[in-house]
Amino acid sequence: MTNPIVSALTGVIARLTDLADNPSINYQTLVIFFTWGQTAFEAYILRRQLPCYDRPAPPPALKAHLPKETFTKAQSYSRDKTRYSLAKLVFDQALGWGLIKVGAYAGLWDFAGRLLSGLGLGNNWVITRSLLWMTVLTLTTGIPGLPWSYYHTFILEQKHGFNKSTFGLWIADTIKTYALFAVIGLPVLAGFLKVIEWAGKSFVPWLMLFLLGIQLSLQIVYPTFIQPLFNKLEPLPEGELRTKVEELANQLGFPLKHLYVIDGSKRSSHSNAYFYGLPWSKHIVIYDTLIKDSTVDEVVAVLGHELGHWYFAHPTKLLLVTQLHLLLTLTIFSIFINNKALYSSFGFDPSLAVTSPQPICIGFVLFQLVLEPTDALVKFLLHAETRRMEYQADEFAVQLGKKKDLASALIKLHVTNLSSPHSDWLYSMYHHSHPILPERLNAMEAYKGGKPLALKGVNASASESEMKKDL
Ligand SMILES: [Zn+2]
Repeated sequence: MTNPIVSALTGVIARLTDLADNPSINYQTLVIFFTWGQTAFEAYILRRQLPCYDRPAPPPALKAHLPKETFTKAQSYSRDKTRYSLAKLVFDQALGWGLIKVGAYAGLWDFAGRLLSGLGLGNNWVITRSLLWMTVLTLTTGIPGLPWSYYHTFILEQKHGFNKSTFGLWIADTIKTYALFAVIGLPVLAGFLKVIEWAGKSFVPWLMLFLLGIQLSLQIVYPTFIQPLFNKLEPLPEGELRTKVEELANQLGFPLKHLYVIDGSKRSSHSNAYFYGLPWSKHIVIYDTLIKDSTVDEVVAVLGHELGHWYFAHPTKLLLVTQLHLLLTLTIFSIFINNKALYSSFGFDPSLAVTSPQPICIGFVLFQLVLEPTDALVKFLLHAETRRMEYQADEFAVQLGKKKDLASALIKLHVTNLSSPHSDWLYSMYHHSHPILPERLNAMEAYKGGKPLALKGVNASASESEMKKDL
């Protein structure tokens, strides 16, 4: 006997599938309309934010800590960054629109087919052709972005004194990033397509399992093999800081396995700290820039905040949220997977949507274009949640008695990172994963104490692995 909920759901999906595959729906027009709409919305938000950088003085909570000169510098840095974002936003949208208008998706698919026959392979090598297609697509969309990346590092960041990178390092970073795409991205994509091909109509749970496996393996692979390509991590030397961090970890029952310093100063003078790892073996990484600019107690207070994220299992909760989002995305994709109207709207032969072996990759990429505007909504919701988590982690540090040190550390970080203390509310809701500094300081000041912490031997995340979490 089949489960009535499952059969009802299958019925709904089947009906939606029929509705969505209608030759009179022009998906290309829809995508262009919605992506320009989203771009207009994002440009509007950035425009709302710009006047914040013309305000003459910092908010009252920060007045005592921000010298006039620093405040002016922060305003000017933020203004430049926002103008850059505005220009980049319009450029990216124009590029995406141009690619759709000239029929690049279908054109490059034919090109990948010619490459394939050049390699002496027939058209039934669908996955190989898909990998070739994704490679040329990635290069076509990525290369026009390189001058922007160059400008960001060597003109914008340089002007405000943050850039520590060199042209050689920048070139090496770019090459390594593309090499990682080839070494990790392409095999994962091949696996992704293979799972769908193999599982057929019921691919969703299998694909979820596959992707979760990849995410968890990256937790192990990233710090050991990928991060060392870009940065050097060294054990934090013995001394007062190391002793105090170990004491804190001990007090909280945090399974600290390794404590590292990362050479963040190699590229930039922005600073931070984070932790990652499996539930029984955690690594803490502190930026050398944070250590340089703060007192020992301030660094420990920052880690008190970080360990608040661990105590409340925030990374695990975020992982669950992303899994739910993925489940929803893949379920909607299952509605579009054989959609002939979608293929033909973008200049592909509609029979590709139903042939065997089917080039699923085309459907997935086109589906992503259709789904893209929903990202805005996801961003609003996700940021509301992460901001709530930041307040909670701050409260945790306050409960550990680190209010004064955390406040002064956050102010120092704010000053060295030249963040602007003013923000438009809509801009903040959309872009900020963290509350802005005056909000955090006010909340810490207003906090009256909550439930006592259950410390020592606490294991807030007994079963799941956790994602990297920035301050
Ligand atoms: Zn945080």
